[in-house]
Amino acid sequence: MSFDASAFVAKLRSIVGDKGLIVDEHGKRPYLSDWRENYLGAALAVVRPVSTEEVAAIVRLCAAEAVAVVPQGGNTGLVGGGVPPETGRAVVLSLTRMNRILEVDTIGYTMTAEAGVVLKTIQETAAAHDRLFPLSLAAEGSCTIGGNLSTNAGGVQVLHYGNARQLVLGLEVVTPAGEIWNGLRALKKDNTGYDLRDLYLGAEGTLGIITKAVLKLWPKPRDIATSWVAVPSPDAAVALLSGAHAASEDNVTSCELMSRQGIDFVLKHIPGAADPLAERHDWYVLLEWSSARARREGGNEGSLGAKMEAYLGEAMEKGLVLDAAIAQNESQARAFWALRENHSEAQKKEGPSIKHDISVAVGKMPAFMKEGLAAMRKALPEGRPVPFGHVGDGNMHFNCQAPAGWDKVRFMKHGEAISSAVYDVVVRYGGSISAEHGIGRLKLDELAHYRSKIELDTMRTLKRTLDPQNIMNPGKIVQI
Ligand code: FAD
Repeated sequence: MSFDASAFVAKLRSIVGDKGLIVDEHGKRPYLSDWRENYLGAALAVVRPVSTEEVAAIVRLCAAEAVAVVPQGGNTGLVGGGVPPETGRAVVLSLTRMNRILEVDTIGYTMTAEAGVVLKTIQETAAAHDRLFPLSLAAEGSCTIGGNLSTNAGGVQVLHYGNARQLVLGLEVVTPAGEIWNGLRALKKDNTGYDLRDLYLGAEGTLGIITKAVLKLWPKPRDIATSWVAVPSPDAAVALLSGAHAASEDNVTSCELMSRQGIDFVLKHIPGAADPLAERHDWYVLLEWSSARARREGGNEGSLGAKMEAYLGEAMEKGLVLDAAIAQNESQARAFWALRENHSEAQKKEGPSIKHDISVAVGKMPAFMKEGLAAMRKALPEGRPVPFGHVGDGNMHFNCQAPAGWDKVRFMKHGEAISSAVYDVVVRYGGSISAEHGIGRLKLDELAHYRSKIELDTMRTLKRTLDPQNIMNPGKIVQI
């Protein structure tokens, strides 16, 4: 039977109404491309349901008509996971109208929210209840909690609180058959068979649609110390972090490493950005310690700021620190963070670049950095390496900016050589080719190349079993 697109769209309309349906080309456009503008897909419609029941009805309709369903949150993903295929026999299912906080349990330290709530709203709601939701990343003003969980997002506080997988207790999911699995349990302990929740976390919408989640909360920090530190090398950065765990009494919440090249791009492209230190240095660390223990009234004594100052002083004597500034107030701390968080935006403005979101064990990071940078330079001597990121998690955005003045076409001729050179070093160091951004479309081939046969076979078996029609975000993570 031939497929009748207008009849299909009419059935979608009967589920979500006019408000929940976008069919005109102009309206659909922002949902068809990714943040980096690497891909442009096509879709019969963008559907924007307001309830789990509507999501389930849409999926059942798509299953009956063999139409692909591409879940989408804030569309800030960096691997093309939320972009529909070019074939056009697909709908983008945007969760952004499912944006209600359903419950905050301050006694049990949990929050239940719909998948389309923007991450910043989750953070602000937790803060308003004197609690902390620690997931924090530069896209937090537009990414959604459903997208965060589906990509198992990392961000800048993983070394203390863990990545998204560790911040969630329960899920509600719509399966590829359009059934609703209610796993919204706020249980810390539940050993009743296979952990279905873990299947959907980091699955990038290929196994089902997350519609709600029970999130974990923490006490709100009352004492925070933030410093901007010039270090001689990545080796010094890792040694500084290693000593900081004990010096801070296990209160290190962030440790980010940046190169001078990245800072130069931020200073050039981001209005208001300023270098906190008088001299230029090759490497910088943004170090943050935080604790729920309140500072003593009327003094700095015993505070994390005082401890950090003493620690950085000792580290300077050992040659691990060249210069440092400790934020004296919240706005200074925010200015330090802006230098780090604007790296992606500044790189985008500078022109084409190739991104590698890699991880190695923290202790291997210094040696990896040396070999990785040498490999990148060998692959394209004129390229401009921009390594930055979560050195405290062993995760660097090991990026290469195009030589000044090169356009994308010319640069991308070297893309494969640069990426292979980097990934070969990563694999030699026992690392990962995607630490926090996922696989999506961008890294399909790399995953197939670098993961073992048994891992790939198991992933394909899972996908075929849970989504036998291959309608749930097909062509992402694994091809079946
Ligand atoms: P989308 O981009 O809409 O979707 C991402 C994937 O999840 C897609 O495969 C999509 O199909 C799927 N999906 C979305 N919602 C659902 C759902 N409800 N159910 C099932 N599947 C779903 N990431 C990090 O981990 N750490 C960082 O530090 C970080 N920094 C960033 C900085 C910038 C400037 C930008 C632009 C991105 C950054 N990211 C980072 C990447 C991105 O923000 C995260 O991957 C984020 O978690 C994606 O959320 P989203 O709502 O935008 O998801």
